[in-house]
Parts: sequence; C-alpha cells; structure tokens
Amino acid sequence: MGYPDVAAFDLDYTVWPCFCDTHLYPPFRPLTEKNGEVHTLIDSHGYEVSFYKDVPKILEDLKNNGTKIVSASRTWAPEIARDLLKGFKVQFNGEIVPLISLFDSLQWGEMSKVNHIKKGLSQIYGKSADVKDYKICLFDDESRNRDVERFGVKYVYIKDPEEGTTWKIYQMYLKGN
Ligand SMILES: [Mg+2]
Repeated sequence: MGYPDVAAFDLDYTVWPCFCDTHLYPPFRPLTEKNGEVHTLIDSHGYEVSFYKDVPKILEDLKNNGTKIVSASRTWAPEIARDLLKGFKVQFNGEIVPLISLFDSLQWGEMSKVNHIKKGLSQIYGKSADVKDYKICLFDDESRNRDVERFGVKYVYIKDPEEGTTWKIYQMYLKGN
C-alpha cells in the first residue's frame, strides 16, 4: 500500500451528488446532528444536498498518512461550492470540523485538471514544485480527465453517481500502488 503525496478531488459527482452551479440555490441551512456534525444542507428551494458518506473517512485517512488534499473543480460557482465545504461539518480525529478545513488547497476555474493540480502544488510546496516529483492521484467522475495520466498523475475514476467516492474504490486505489 502506498499513500500519495497529494490527492486531488473533483467536487461535483465526486464529493457530492449534484452540480452545485445549476442544482443549488443559496443560502443554505444546516441539518445539524446531535454531535454537531452536518451531513446535509438545505438550499433556499428546499433541496437537500449531502456529501457522499465515505468522503470524510477517506480524507481523514489520507491526512493521517501525510497526504495533502487539493480540490480541483471547474464549477462556475466556486462561491456555492465553498458554502458547501464550509457548511458540512465532519469528525476529524474526534473533533467536529468544517469539511473545508481538510483541504490544503482549493483550485477553481476553467482549466485542465493538471493545471489545478500544478497550482495546488505551488501553493503547498512552493513555486518550483514539479508535478513529476510527487506521487499524485485525482479522484474524478469525468473520464476525459484521465488525461492527467500523461503527467504521471494516477486517475481514479468515480463511475457511479449514486455511490460517488467510496471507501472500496479508495482501498482499491491504495492497494494498486
Ligand atoms: Mg465532477
């Protein structure tokens, strides 16, 4: 098993099951669990959005093994995505934290995923960081983004929009290393 230096995550249909720029209308109100976690946010139209349930456990495991986490999203509404990342509250090593706090770098915009990853690397490791010097993976539901493999980034395909990123897919990725 080998942990990556950096794990990049697409957001729509990788971390949560919707397009946040077309399906959601802020502001959001939290459905808060007894222990303070927030797994579900309700938008102003009453639409309920939750993250895929295994995501916090995966991020916790990665971070506890020294992996840096980058979001790589082409969404047209980064402010909505940010609202979700701030609104969701999860357990991390026994504490309740906003999901956004588990990300080391947030990358947005109409660029290729490898450019999101490169920008994330410079933010975390400094300007001279080269994508080829790090073990990196990308979790993403759009198979066209497999082109990151040309740069040595391992592409992990999130095929099922119902299930999203699961512990099982994650374990298969780790074992393949
Ligand atoms: Mg996506």
